[in-house]
Amino acid sequence: MRDTFLVFGSPLIESREIDEVVATLKSGWIGTGPKTHRFEEDFRAYKGVKYAIALSSCTAALHLALKVVGVKSGDEVIVPSMTFAATANTVVHCGAMPVFADCDTKTQNIDPADIRRKITKRTKAIVVVHMAGRPCEMNEIMALAKKFKLKVIEDAAHAVETEYKGKKIGTIGDIGTFSFYVTKNLVTAEGGMAITNNKKYAEEMRVLSLHGMSADAWKRYGDDGYKHYDVVEAGYKYNMTDIQASLGLHQLARVEKNWKRREKIWNRYMKELTGLPVILPAPIEKGTRHAYHLFTILVDTDKAKVSRDQFLSEMTKRNIGTGVHFCALHLQPFYRKLCGHKVGDLPNSEWIGDRTVSIPFSAKLTDDDVSDVIAAIKEILS
Ligand SMILES: *Cc1c(COP(=O)(O)O)cnc(C)c1O
Repeated sequence: MRDTFLVFGSPLIESREIDEVVATLKSGWIGTGPKTHRFEEDFRAYKGVKYAIALSSCTAALHLALKVVGVKSGDEVIVPSMTFAATANTVVHCGAMPVFADCDTKTQNIDPADIRRKITKRTKAIVVVHMAGRPCEMNEIMALAKKFKLKVIEDAAHAVETEYKGKKIGTIGDIGTFSFYVTKNLVTAEGGMAITNNKKYAEEMRVLSLHGMSADAWKRYGDDGYKHYDVVEAGYKYNMTDIQASLGLHQLARVEKNWKRREKIWNRYMKELTGLPVILPAPIEKGTRHAYHLFTILVDTDKAKVSRDQFLSEMTKRNIGTGVHFCALHLQPFYRKLCGHKVGDLPNSEWIGDRTVSIPFSAKLTDDDVSDVIAAIKEILS
């Protein structure tokens, strides 16, 4: 057994970003400034999109995206149940109602047929989540959006590197949002990004991200001399700092290298975890690229001698950290009450939520770490 605890989702931080953070701290400007703008430009170029706005989190990006596409009180927004709370919470923050759709059991992504069933006269937008880094069925979803005149926001918190039929994820819907939270593929400790090809959305998100002010702080205090600003909206405090961008610049430069490392780990897990009472991730669909953000296994509760929760604690006993992505969101106390949900309403999301376990899957893992994870799982389940 390992003698140190293997932290789930521990990020790979290297000397370039550490040096950049230190240089920023010594530079005299640590707020939103030149490095944040450089990070936006690099991310924009990586995605091949017209506009990128760096923010304090993906939650902030989702909130602003919903706002600028016009989601307001009285509207409904279709969201998956198989997602993190922020996907639906931000709909509530806009005064609108989330309407949960079920997912496909194989891909774990939102099911276009269930989206269709949930569309009403009040539906304003659909938020899709590219679960674990696997792209949703965007052709079908965009066709529905076109037919019913709905906006589409891609919650791409898991999907920096994902592609769908030749398109980069986050550029297919009206707005794409990304997370640079500590466990994500690209980390800035806390941070996020909104991308779009729509100039109006980009300008509105930028203004709303910083108090509704017409010029950001670097423009006010920068070397062009002090400038007055106008407050044109009651905006939010959602900006990214140059300290976070210092991490992001170098994390982004290595994003493909880290992806290749995770692809190796993915292939090893796929090979060495066969023959156990677990359901492994579905094969990667033709014409798509998976971001390899999460490696999730479903404990086959009919065949395994432990429950999912027993499996989690057995992993902890063996010094291996795990995660659960996710318990079905529509059954969380707040959403049960808000939407009146009960067990059985979204059977596929509930089925996954009762079985899913995310095992360590960071580019930081050594081959020995991966061997430890595999050995622990085999010991518990065989
Ligand atoms: C992590 C996550 C978020 C929130 O990201 P933050 O940057 O922490 O706000 C949103 N949606 C999904 C699917 C996530 O996994």
